[in-house]
Amino acid sequence: MRVVKTFYIETFGCQMNVHDSEKVIGTLIAQGYSQVATPEEAELVFYNTCSIRDKAEQKVFSRLQQFKKEHGRGKTFAVLGCVAQQEGEKIFAKAPHVSLVCGSASYNQLPEMLVQLETGNRRVTGLSLDTEDTFDTPLTRRDNPHRAYITIIEGCDKSCAYCVVPFTRGPERSRTSASVISEARKLASAGYSEIQLLGQNVNSYRDPSPAGWDFTTLLANVGRTPGIRRVRFTTSHPRDFVQGIIDAIDENLALCNHVHLPVQSGSTRVLEAMQRLYTRDDYMRRIDWMKKARRDIAITTDVIVGFPGETEADFEATLALLDAVEYDSIFSFKYSRRPNTPALALGDQVPEEEKGRRLTILQERQRAIQVRRNATYLGRVEECLVEGFNKATGQWIGRTSQNKTLNFIRPTADPVDNLLGTYVEVRVTRTGPNSLAGESVH
Ligand code: SF4
Repeated sequence: MRVVKTFYIETFGCQMNVHDSEKVIGTLIAQGYSQVATPEEAELVFYNTCSIRDKAEQKVFSRLQQFKKEHGRGKTFAVLGCVAQQEGEKIFAKAPHVSLVCGSASYNQLPEMLVQLETGNRRVTGLSLDTEDTFDTPLTRRDNPHRAYITIIEGCDKSCAYCVVPFTRGPERSRTSASVISEARKLASAGYSEIQLLGQNVNSYRDPSPAGWDFTTLLANVGRTPGIRRVRFTTSHPRDFVQGIIDAIDENLALCNHVHLPVQSGSTRVLEAMQRLYTRDDYMRRIDWMKKARRDIAITTDVIVGFPGETEADFEATLALLDAVEYDSIFSFKYSRRPNTPALALGDQVPEEEKGRRLTILQERQRAIQVRRNATYLGRVEECLVEGFNKATGQWIGRTSQNKTLNFIRPTADPVDNLLGTYVEVRVTRTGPNSLAGESVH
């Protein structure tokens, strides 16, 4: 029997995957494995994969190809996450040197799967989506010493026509409010000051315990955890996003004044084809709540261009929506056909070249909005959590409550100053489309 003792993990995709990897790392370390920095040094190599776009999926298979020869040298390969769930045992055919394929709904069984690997089993799978459990573990290994993720809900019960998540992460399962609050308290006593609540759709959180909290109640209570100065949450779904969330942000400065509310398209016709369950007007009503809030709430979004059937007029409606909302930033993508999704059945595909043209126009329009929006910060004093130091520029890297990067210098700097993890007041002296720059005021 050969016992594998070192592992390397590479993570692709969203924050949910990043946090899942933190939990997997903690689980492996508790099983006696030690983490190494490169795949070359490792005996067991994990890829935690993303299949949201075709490109992300191809990247995983190309990584596996690169290391094919290494299998002959005794390495074991494991594929986790969305590609694992989507492709299942087909991965063994495509990449025969892979020994473990496990989707996120089966991570609870990882310790047993590792035992199977160690006892020489060459094909181990965890692919069931039939679960009511979430992957909660006290063993999470967090890299960032100041900001911690907490998963509050896994899976998704929506069926947006372009999205693989319902097929790769399974149905919605919420954690109990007591376990979330207890994790937040533990993190605060371990020195974390910022918490980010995670879920595919955090707004549909439903406490399975008799307390029966909804998302707004959970958010407000996490925001009252002593020692926690900032709480963020992602991702929201406009259909389930309620005014109470804005009221909670207005009432408690610990809840960051930033909302990421994916719109995907500014055309009601396209939203309907996407099965998004809201109209442009429904979405704009939520934006209106945010604009009327007492606090200055930064708003960000996701946009897909070139969804099947998207006409020039639909695209223009999306551009007009960007102007109307004045987003602080956006993530924008060309529509990508994904396996199993309802959109595969739709005709009227937009040619790749046209998708590219629309994406460029959209990004240019948004860049101009960001230049204008960020210019309004000139002269303002913003509180930053210091996340890093850039040796090349001599600037500290800070993040505002609105999730803007604010690079700054400290005029009265002491060379031994270490501001990492502290909160600093910074006056904005320069602005650009993607970040702000300034000087600390003390
Ligand atoms: S809400 Fe829609 S886009 Fe978001 S994970 Fe669920 S199905 Fe995918």
